[in-house]
Amino acid sequence: MATYDVLIVGAGPAGCSAALTLRNRDKSVLMAYTGDGAMGLAEKMNNYPGLRGKTGREMIELFRAEAQEAGAELRKEKVSQLLSMGDTFSAIVGSEIVSARAVILTVGTARGKELPGEKELVGRGVSYCATCDAMLYRKRPVIVIGTDEESVEEANFLAGLASRVMYLCEKQHDVSALDERVERSTAKPQAIEKGDGAPGQAIRVITDQGAVSADCAFVLRPTVAPGTLLPGLETSNAGIVHTPDLRTNVPRVYVAGDAAGAPRQVAKAVGDGCVAAFSCVEDLKQLS
Ligand SMILES: Cc1cc2nc3c(=O)[nH]c(=O)nc-3n(C[C@H](O)[C@H](O)[C@H](O)COP(=O)(O)OP(=O)(O)OC[C@H]3O[C@@H](n4cnc5c(N)ncnc54)[C@H](O)[C@@H]3O)c2cc1C
Repeated sequence: MATYDVLIVGAGPAGCSAALTLRNRDKSVLMAYTGDGAMGLAEKMNNYPGLRGKTGREMIELFRAEAQEAGAELRKEKVSQLLSMGDTFSAIVGSEIVSARAVILTVGTARGKELPGEKELVGRGVSYCATCDAMLYRKRPVIVIGTDEESVEEANFLAGLASRVMYLCEKQHDVSALDERVERSTAKPQAIEKGDGAPGQAIRVITDQGAVSADCAFVLRPTVAPGTLLPGLETSNAGIVHTPDLRTNVPRVYVAGDAAGAPRQVAKAVGDGCVAAFSCVEDLKQLS
């Protein structure tokens, strides 16, 4: 299993800044991210020093390239689960399990709204990771609730294992690459309920065209709510709860950037990344 000093979840300005500081302190860093985050949506950023006139996307590409040049490993993969194992954390990154001694959460604020009932059924018929849980549903019927082209890829992977895969779109996206074994429905998912427990009916997805039953609903969004990502993490309406030096309530887990609360701006995210990295380096000294 690959092991790092620090796993950074997210590669926006907060994550890239944390990575640069950690590399200056000679820490091994894995930075996993699913996309360009909020910066990818920003046309022009005129209040960040030195890069006036650049688009958000141009800036984030520069930030990521610098982090990589400094020696951080970057992977364009979702972190779907974090578990504290005592002195280390286990993380599901894409389809791999990696280990890290500390975690910095720089996940921004963009995330899909959970469906009613979804959270309560995680691990009991709702999964956020097809690659991780597909084998549990071998030769059993499943539903994929997809949001983007990556969901299409995961549904195609499930088609080779499950007895039936039904695909529902939570957000409109290109589904032309869906495997012919995947059953495409135009129904809109509205809620998830516990099923009656008979084979193939562990859960029920309620849609605008009626209910569909299966043994698992794979809900495949590019982000996971922080409290679901790391059980026990304290969150509030303002973001992930933290001390002034960006420690969360979970030892050796830090937060930076928009996920830590307002003001949600690049300059603050970059500053947060640096502060969180220093707190992290200090705490890692106690471990070694
Ligand atoms: C339209 C728009 C215009 C803006 N204009 C300005 C401006 O002019 N000036 C300014 O200062 N700020 C501006 N902002 C705000 C600025 O973009 C944010 O404050 C900043 O990007 C926050 O950085 P961050 O690193 O905290 O989060 P983000 O940049 O949102 O990055 C979050 C990262 O987390 C990743 N991620 C999330 N969940 C997971 C997961 N489970 N696994 C792996 N990766 C994950 C995402 O892929 C992404 O890489 C604007 C924002 C928007 C939307």
